Amino acid sequence: MTVRRFNAFGWENVPVLSYKEGGPYKDVTRQILFEGAESLPVQWRYFEVQPGGHSTLERHEHIHWVLILRGRGACLVGDEITDIAEHDLIEIAPLQWHQFRAAEDAPLGFLCLVAAERDRPQLPSEDDLAGLRQDAKIADFIRP
Ligand code: MN
Repeated sequence: MTVRRFNAFGWENVPVLSYKEGGPYKDVTRQILFEGAESLPVQWRYFEVQPGGHSTLERHEHIHWVLILRGRGACLVGDEITDIAEHDLIEIAPLQWHQFRAAEDAPLGFLCLVAAERDRPQLPSEDDLAGLRQDAKIADFIRP
């Protein structure tokens, strides 16, 4: 049996990592909860965005299944922006642009399930950004 006890949005023997190597994000940590099982080829992660922070604006072929575990914020998925709060579930389909932002006064912590074998995230080109910014709400929301 593997039990890693929960404490303050961390888990025993689960190191708190930086979100990514570089890249346009702000105040995000990453914890890898489970990975590497041959019969369940996924990586299960917990990300936490500090108040006012955001994840990278990106897209990729692989999908994400997300459960908000802590706090609140908002996300862009495809061409929609929505507020999100604890226990909401979010699916990010292939090649949908996505970005998570924590509220200014609360963190945003979420579980995110991905395939173990997956393509690398793509960042938006200047053309992609110009396309996204056609929508004034998206232009205001994104932090590229
Ligand atoms: Mn992603």
